[in-house]
Amino acid sequence: MDKIQMMTPIVEMDGDEMTRVLWGWIKERLILPFVDLKTEYYDLGLLHRNETHDQVTIDAAKATARLGVAVKCATITPNRARMEEYPELTEMWKSPNGTIRAYLDGTAFRTPIILPCIKPVVKTWEAPITIARHAYGDMYKAVDMVTEGPGTATLTFRGEDGQERSLTVQTVDGPAVWQGQHNTEKSIRAFARSCFQYAISQKQDLWFSTKDTISKVYDGEFKRIFEEEYANTYQAEFEKLGLTYFYTLIDDAVARCIRSKGGFIWALKNYDGDVMSDMVATAFGSLAMMTSVLVSPDGTMEFEASHGTVTRHYYKYLKGEKTSTNPIATIFAWSGALKRRGELDGSADLVHFGRALEEASLGTLMSGIMTRDLLPLVEPGFQARGVTSEEFLDAIAQRLAALLA
Ligand code: NAP
Ligand code: MG
Repeated sequence: MDKIQMMTPIVEMDGDEMTRVLWGWIKERLILPFVDLKTEYYDLGLLHRNETHDQVTIDAAKATARLGVAVKCATITPNRARMEEYPELTEMWKSPNGTIRAYLDGTAFRTPIILPCIKPVVKTWEAPITIARHAYGDMYKAVDMVTEGPGTATLTFRGEDGQERSLTVQTVDGPAVWQGQHNTEKSIRAFARSCFQYAISQKQDLWFSTKDTISKVYDGEFKRIFEEEYANTYQAEFEKLGLTYFYTLIDDAVARCIRSKGGFIWALKNYDGDVMSDMVATAFGSLAMMTSVLVSPDGTMEFEASHGTVTRHYYKYLKGEKTSTNPIATIFAWSGALKRRGELDGSADLVHFGRALEEASLGTLMSGIMTRDLLPLVEPGFQARGVTSEEFLDAIAQRLAALLA
């Protein structure tokens, strides 16, 4: 069989622990036998980040902006315990995801991978709901204080042009607590653009919700900027594709979401997205079945699994045990990146391969062969057998070869 050719490379970011092991197995069994893979490889494993003073993360982000598509393995974000585990670390390096997101000015979209044999808690959901969380500002960059006695707090902005504006926040007659929040027009606009871009690429409706009836000015700005971007840049494309951009109050969106069939993208402010993404992920099933795509305002995409490096399984693996770590979200990161590359390059073969890889993975699960984390989630009466990661990957490879033959 002739291997599928790639016109343009994708950025490949290798990572840490169990997911790094899975990474190698996925490439060896599911990609390299079928695709003449072209990647620009960056080793984001913790020790290599340390050796390069984290320059490798910046280089990988730059390469992603240049090539437009990346696939990333989960990586360790060092904390105190990791500093002890890896004494050679010269610094507590920042989260690579944070560095890459800041460089690309991107928004992360999280989507569950769903299966007929694992029903979501919400009975009406038939298709995945993708959550887009704004990743800058509001409560996450707020300043707070507690005051003891009566008094008045004011909000003052001092412009560099010398102009000053002031508002009274509140006059209180006893102890009180205060918080100052902000966001920037630039960040909100980048968020809006990433959302519209991603909705177009997925051919799905976009919902956006805030609380602008109460937060008339603050949330009102979010609503205004989304509407402006839609009208000026994306409306024509949405209409051509038959898609809807839909703004509603967050309370209404929650109610509609629960009653919906799914199959849309829901954009949320930072805190709302934090809460709703955990709710949606839990209701759909498992962290091991969540994918994540970082999308920049110009449509650059970086694909990854939502879960971490699965440390506990890695220590078992190091002791020679065969683990049953679920590779599905990492496989879908690869298939997503290859499909996107294929779309951008006009390569139907590569798009077809990405789809076949997903079909083979889901087909294997539906045949009852799965990693053990999924066994407690399947519908009663569904016959399923737990296997090791390698057995699972071999079963997918067999199906994939048959699909592509
Ligand atoms: P984690 O790696 O997601 O794992 C937490 C637990 O969830 C695992 O111990 C396992 O449960 C279960 N799990 C997650 N993914 C699984 C899979 N694919 N198959 C089977 N079970 C799975 O989170 P963590 O332990 O909090 O973090 C570990 C490291 O990952 C940390 O160093 C953190 O910095 C990093 N991290 C990286 C990213 C990223 O790069 N995007 C994201 C999050 C965390 P059982 O042990 O019960 O089987
Ligand atoms: Mg959370």
